Amino acid sequence: MKPLTESDVRRSFVNCSKGEAKRLGVPRDLDEQPWDHLDFLGWRDPGAPERGYLVAERDGGLVGIALRAAPGASRGFTSRSMCSLCLTTHTSGGVALMTARRTGEAGRQGNTVGQYVCSDLACSLYTRGKKQPAAGGDLDETLSVGEKIARTQVNLTAFIDKVIK
Ligand SMILES: [Zn+2]
Repeated sequence: MKPLTESDVRRSFVNCSKGEAKRLGVPRDLDEQPWDHLDFLGWRDPGAPERGYLVAERDGGLVGIALRAAPGASRGFTSRSMCSLCLTTHTSGGVALMTARRTGEAGRQGNTVGQYVCSDLACSLYTRGKKQPAAGGDLDETLSVGEKIARTQVNLTAFIDKVIK
C-alpha cells in the first residue's frame, strides 16, 4: 500500500468519533513501515493495550477501523487458534477476538463485528513469510505467496464490508 502520514491515518477512521481518532496512538515509525509488503497497516495502541487499529486502502480511499480485543478470549496455552484474515495458526494469545463497532445506525445501536485476528495485526507479514508465529506455524499449504496475499485481501475486504455496510 502507499505510505501514509499520521494525518492520513487519523482521518481514515470510520467507526470511532473524531475525538477518539485524534487521540489514538498512531505508530511513531510510519516512515519505517514496510509499506510495499502491507495489505493494511495494523497495530495495537501502546497506551491502551486492549485497543487495535487497522487502516486499509479501499476504492481509492482509506478505511480505518478501530478494534477492541475481547478480554479473556485466550483459550489456554496449549490450544491453537487461527487468524481469520491471514489463516496463520498461533498458540497462547497469538490470536485475539477483536470487535469493531459498525458504522451508521447499526453502530449507534451497539452492533459490532467480531473477528479472530493475529493479536499483533501483522497479517500482511505472516502472509508473505516475513514474520513467523512464535509457535504453531503455517498450515501445510501449497499456495504460492501471491495466492495467499490474494486470500488475505479477500478476507480483509469481507471484514471491512461487515463493518461499514
Ligand atoms: Zn492474521
